[in-house]
Amino acid sequence: MSDHNIVAIANQKGGVGKTTTAINLGAALADAGYETVLIDLDPQGNASTGLGILPEQRERTIYDLLAGPETLQDCAIPTQIPNLRIVPATSDLSSADVDLSQTADRTRLLRRKLESLPQGSIVLIDCPPALGLLTVNAMVAADSVLVPLQAEFYALEGLSQLLTTVKQVRRTANPELRINGVLLTMSDYRNNLSQQVEADARATLADLVYPTVIPRNVRVSEAPSHAQPVLIYDPSSKGSAAYRAFAAEFAARLKLVPEEA
Ligand code: ADP
Ligand code: MG
Repeated sequence: MSDHNIVAIANQKGGVGKTTTAINLGAALADAGYETVLIDLDPQGNASTGLGILPEQRERTIYDLLAGPETLQDCAIPTQIPNLRIVPATSDLSSADVDLSQTADRTRLLRRKLESLPQGSIVLIDCPPALGLLTVNAMVAADSVLVPLQAEFYALEGLSQLLTTVKQVRRTANPELRINGVLLTMSDYRNNLSQQVEADARATLADLVYPTVIPRNVRVSEAPSHAQPVLIYDPSSKGSAAYRAFAAEFAARLKLVPEEA
């Protein structure tokens, strides 16, 4: 087992809950005492905004980390949550694919900046909705990939494409890369389709699918406009309870040892 845990949160579909999961999993892990760094690898910067990082605080960003001499310590800034730091993103990142395409080792840019992480650190990487150079950088740097899957009709179809990319990364730059698991998100229990997708996912992917399912919950969707994780915006909401339960399962899967144990 490695002495740190780098997890890429990836799915090439947009709007499936990657950023929501990155923010709330990060908040829950930090709250449990784990030093956590969230890397916002999406040019839309939703994770940065959702955690209340103002534009003027985004002086050093993930773009600098990838393309410049900056270190993780230079770029990771505190959030409102103790133990949770973020490497913010701005729209500059949208040109990264082109800007970095001629760089030697362009798929290892993130990995080499994460090589000297302090022992026990957790890094969550919020990937953009594409399987391009940025997501490949996340997968090359990561120990494992967490896949949020929205409980809707085409959910499983995109998965094979994602798994192909994981296999390619394994064959080339990162043989150790594993699938951490699949998290079903935005499930609606009044809707038969959500139940059908969950049943299909469990039948196909078995134990890869986390026991906890994140329900569709209006408090979850409101939280980002208040620049807070739902865990802080409305700790007693169903969404908060689900993300807390998921974070405990995630920590157990990584075999993390609680601080107080
Ligand atoms: P991605 O990062 O994969 O594009 P997001 O996490 O940004 O997806 O989620 C897409 C949209 O769905 C956002 O507006 C978000 O607030 C909303 N959302 C995510 N999870 C839930 C949920 N469990 N309940 C309700 N809305 C959600
Ligand atoms: Mg996102």
